[in-house]
Amino acid sequence: MADIPAECNIKVLCRFRPLNQSEILRGDQFIPKFQSDDTVLVGGKSYVFDRVFPTNTTQEQVYNTCAKQIVKDVLGGYNGTIFAYGQTSSGKTHTMEGKLHDPHQMGIIPRIAEDIFNHIFAMDENLEFHIKVSYFEIYMDKIRDLLDVTKTNLSVHEDKNRVPFVKSDSYSVSLVFSPLLLFPLLLFLLISSPLVMDVIDEGKAARHVAVTNMNEHSSRSHSIFLINIKQEHVETEQKLCGKLYLVDLAGSEKVSKTGAAGAVLDEAKNINKSLSALGNVISALAEGTKSHVPYRDSKMTRILQDSLGGNCRTTMFICCSPSSYNDAETKSTLMFGQRAKTIRNTASINLELTAEQWKRKYEKEKEKNKTLKETVQKLEIELNRWRNGEEVPETEQTTADVVTRFETVEERPILDNDTSSIVVRISEEERQKYEEEIRKLYKQLDDKDDEINLQCQLVEKLKQQMLDQDELLASSKGDGDKVQAELGRLQVESDCAKAEVKEVLQALEELAINYDQKSQEVEEKGLQNQLLADQLSQKMASLMELEAELSRMQEVSGQQRKRIADVLNGLMRDLSEFSTIVGNGEIKLPVEISGAIEEEFTVARLYISKIKSEVKSMVKRCRQLENMQLECHRKMEETGRELSSCQLLISQHEAKIRSLTEYMQSVEQKKRLLEESHDSLSEELAKLQDQGNLHSAQKGETEDGNQESHRGLHHKQLARLRDEINEKQRIIDELTDRNSKLELELAHVRADFERLKSQDNTKSERLEELSFLHERHEQTKQDLKGLEETVVIIRGIYKGFCQPPSGSSEMEPDDSGGSCTQKQKISFLENNLDQLTKVHKQLVRDNADLRCELPKLEKRLRSTAERVKALETALRDAKEGAMMDRRRYQQEVDRIKDAMRAKNALRRPHAAQIAKPVRPKQMPVCSPTNPFYTYIRATEQANTYSNALFQGNVTQPSAASSNCNPNSVQSNT
Ligand code: ADP
Ligand code: MG
Repeated sequence: MADIPAECNIKVLCRFRPLNQSEILRGDQFIPKFQSDDTVLVGGKSYVFDRVFPTNTTQEQVYNTCAKQIVKDVLGGYNGTIFAYGQTSSGKTHTMEGKLHDPHQMGIIPRIAEDIFNHIFAMDENLEFHIKVSYFEIYMDKIRDLLDVTKTNLSVHEDKNRVPFVKSDSYSVSLVFSPLLLFPLLLFLLISSPLVMDVIDEGKAARHVAVTNMNEHSSRSHSIFLINIKQEHVETEQKLCGKLYLVDLAGSEKVSKTGAAGAVLDEAKNINKSLSALGNVISALAEGTKSHVPYRDSKMTRILQDSLGGNCRTTMFICCSPSSYNDAETKSTLMFGQRAKTIRNTASINLELTAEQWKRKYEKEKEKNKTLKETVQKLEIELNRWRNGEEVPETEQTTADVVTRFETVEERPILDNDTSSIVVRISEEERQKYEEEIRKLYKQLDDKDDEINLQCQLVEKLKQQMLDQDELLASSKGDGDKVQAELGRLQVESDCAKAEVKEVLQALEELAINYDQKSQEVEEKGLQNQLLADQLSQKMASLMELEAELSRMQEVSGQQRKRIADVLNGLMRDLSEFSTIVGNGEIKLPVEISGAIEEEFTVARLYISKIKSEVKSMVKRCRQLENMQLECHRKMEETGRELSSCQLLISQHEAKIRSLTEYMQSVEQKKRLLEESHDSLSEELAKLQDQGNLHSAQKGETEDGNQESHRGLHHKQLARLRDEINEKQRIIDELTDRNSKLELELAHVRADFERLKSQDNTKSERLEELSFLHERHEQTKQDLKGLEETVVIIRGIYKGFCQPPSGSSEMEPDDSGGSCTQKQKISFLENNLDQLTKVHKQLVRDNADLRCELPKLEKRLRSTAERVKALETALRDAKEGAMMDRRRYQQEVDRIKDAMRAKNALRRPHAAQIAKPVRPKQMPVCSPTNPFYTYIRATEQANTYSNALFQGNVTQPSAASSNCNPNSVQSNT
């Protein structure tokens, strides 16, 4: 940079768009009043800018008024920036881009792209142009390359002049124009400008791809279009470069107005953050008093650092809405523009010096340096004189003109015509070397910049850490005091500990003795343990035997049980049959017997007792029936006897009746004879009376006397006959009475007979019944015989393990008399039942015995196991005791060692030789297989080691280890 930097303010242009459709429909007021070319009145306040564009200004007018000049500047080697600031839909994009392919509506960027090439053609034909175009987007403070969508977070670097730039390799357009290439003019014009348009299209497409809602996105992101133009004079090798930033900022509206929330709010805050960073930068620059401008607050301000208060010709478009609805935003936008207007930039041409120019500059600088040093010396001398209280006369005072002289000398442009007169030619080789070096240095510089960036972040972090550390330090100081106090306490403790050490040494001695005792004890215990182990093994063997026996017993018992079950099954089946016979199926027995024999036995017993009672009751009934039968028989005999007497009587009576009837017949005949004689007599009488009458007349009186004697005789005979008849009648009546009486008696006797007959019938029926029962009894007897056989079998089975039942079990059949036999049978059955019960009882008892024996055996087993366990715990206790002793011993040793070491280190490096006799003989006889071996060995080693330590020489304990006698190996398993 060697031109005269020109100070100039940022150009601020204000553009109002027309009311849009929705605003018109809403009936919004049009608030701005355009007073002149550079003044606008909004809300009664006038705002003055470099230019105010009313709503009807065309794109071309806008471009011609401000942007055209910037293209010339950039081609002249200046940096240029055009911003568009304003709320969303205020016309920023319209101003910057417009409609790209519409010649009337196209905005600044496409027009610049066109214009640049027009200018290039109007320029010197010895100039070679390198044009690079980049297109970025800053969203959420991240720079995205719109020409290479993979690069989403580009970093900002600084070039050799400490000018920040976005580090990106993707330049979509990198054109080299040179007259030497002899490009046909037409072709050139055809390809160049459309290429830049393509870049814009591409970038816009990339923005569209990245987001769903382009309008919202564009209002939240900043887009930066960068045109980098480098020109080199083919002959003079003079290099000029200019950068043109075309920035379409995010909407400046307040977050509250958009009603954003959540992620959108975060986003909005971030946009506002970069915008407020821009505002802060502009405020800082506008005030001009602040030494620090917060460019680094956001990536955007950092990129545009040079455009704001740097080496740049900057134009800012303030885009506003004319609607009353956006009143507040418009006002704040206008205020922002007013502030930005005060910023002063110092634009200078970006000229790269040639080697000769550099050399000259170097010489000058050297000279200047020399003179300045001299001046400094002079000033120092003068200062000293002043300090010494000397009064320096004005003539001797060093004046400021010395400095200014140099400044003016320096400010003289290098780029004057005399440059050619001091051309120092250097060789090509040297030039290349320098260039290489310069390139290297630039690269280093780049790296350093990166580093600086990192370091800055680090510095922040470190500052934070420093603060943390300070806090920590403060707390540490407190801790330190505490520690000091602790130290004092520890000192005291240490003194105590020293005293203790002595005691401990004594204790140690005791411990050593104790240890010996313990080890002996341990040995004894070991032996005891051995013995116990032997015992244990014996016990175990016996236990095993017992277990085997038990299992055998169990097996046998199982078999027996099975057999018993079988037998019982048979028995039960028989019993059930028996019960069906005896109890008429009232008693139901389980058909199958399995599982718990005892229960089944009890069940069987129950059933048997039931059957017994049933049998008993039956016997009783039998007896009763027999008695009844006897009585019946007796009664029958009696009745028979009675009956025969009755019959006799009846026959007597019949005979009597017969005789009487005969008599009656004879009497009847007599009577008839008498009646016949009476009749004949009466006839004779009549005849005689007739004759008498005749004779009376004749014989008169004589015959009367005879007749009268005859009549008397007759009368007498008649009376006698009558009497005789009467008597006979009386006898007949008497006999009929008796006959009827006898008949009655006969009927009575007959009824009796009938009754007795029916009784006899019933008795005989009962008898039949009883005989049937008797048969059944016989059957039961047979069954019981079978049962007895079964019992005999069972007895045979149990003969092996139980007492045989007493020998009087044989039954002796007695066939004397029905009831007696029955009784005997019943008693036999009962006997059998008893036997069965006995057998069952025996079985139950055996079973119980076996069961009793089982817990005994188990108990024995348990007690043996307990004994083993007790022995084990005793062994463990002994071990633990030994271990504890050992640990205590070790601790003591350690403590003493530490104390001794500290003592030796601090005070008496070669003192404190505490003699402690090594007792190798006291070590127990040990072997590697003995579980105590490791312990003993470790203790031993510690012992020896500590002893050696006390004595001041550390050697491996060899004497102790040599005491291990492998012959005394005793298995302790
Ligand atoms: P921003 O980029 O600020 O959000 P835009 O540039 O997208 O706003 O403008 C919003 C709308 O207003 C677009 O449709 C655009 O065509 C229109 N517009 C903006 N400024 C003007 C203007 N000066 N004349 C005519 N229409 C305009
Ligand atoms: Mg926009």
